[in-house]
Amino acid sequence: MMIDIVFLGPPGAGKGTQARILAGQKYRIKQISTGDILRSITQPKTDMAKRALQSMQFGQLVPDDVVIGLIGETIEQTPNTGFVFDGFPRTLNQADALETMLHKHGRKVHMVVELNVDSDALVNRITKRLTCLHCGSIYNADTLQASTDNALVQCAKCGSSDLQQREDDTQDVLNKRLLEYYKKTAPLIGYYYAKNLLYTVNGLDDISTIADKIAREIDKRMHSVAPSSADARQTNLVL
Ligand code: AMP
Repeated sequence: MMIDIVFLGPPGAGKGTQARILAGQKYRIKQISTGDILRSITQPKTDMAKRALQSMQFGQLVPDDVVIGLIGETIEQTPNTGFVFDGFPRTLNQADALETMLHKHGRKVHMVVELNVDSDALVNRITKRLTCLHCGSIYNADTLQASTDNALVQCAKCGSSDLQQREDDTQDVLNKRLLEYYKKTAPLIGYYYAKNLLYTVNGLDDISTIADKIAREIDKRMHSVAPSSADARQTNLVL
């Protein structure tokens, strides 16, 4: 069965980390991160791309049509691949567009995982976050430093020493990103709750505890069978 899952949460909640773990598990779904796609545009050619990258630097969301276009293209190119959407949708407009794009291929969002983390913890995580430029693995600078006797910190996964802080992972830009999140993205929590798709986990738990909880919930939801039409006929429903 093909599944599509959305990860929701403020910057630093652990969406990227958990989406990577989930994509590497048994469900045969791919991670798609709009942030990663946008960051991979190193030499923007169009005005629209230039404006999008500027918005990122200032901690603002890039316009809906840009990210909807990126996701739409990916779904069109690989209509038979289920996705874990990491950082998309981030507005109600994007959420509606996602539903329409998936519906076109007989698909739907199966579950929305909200990673809940309080703002103080986010500031600490974000300002200490290091990303491996080689394989994309994410680390906390303090934990990584403590795990080595060397002055040189290396990626535990691929051994690269190309570990960098993201340009927008500074206290100043983070404040703007948080504002954008609470203003434009947080309303999606209610939206997906009302659609009965929301699953909230404590984003401060251990990485592996969170991953286990998410996997268990997916299994539970995939195995809860909708009543068949025969069952429905047996109920004495009077309208
Ligand atoms: P992320 O890597 O998910 O933290 O995203 C980094 C930045 O990319 C955000 O602060 C936004 O500027 C931009 N971005 C990523 N995804 C979206 C989205 N779905 N809608 C608008 N902007 C986005």
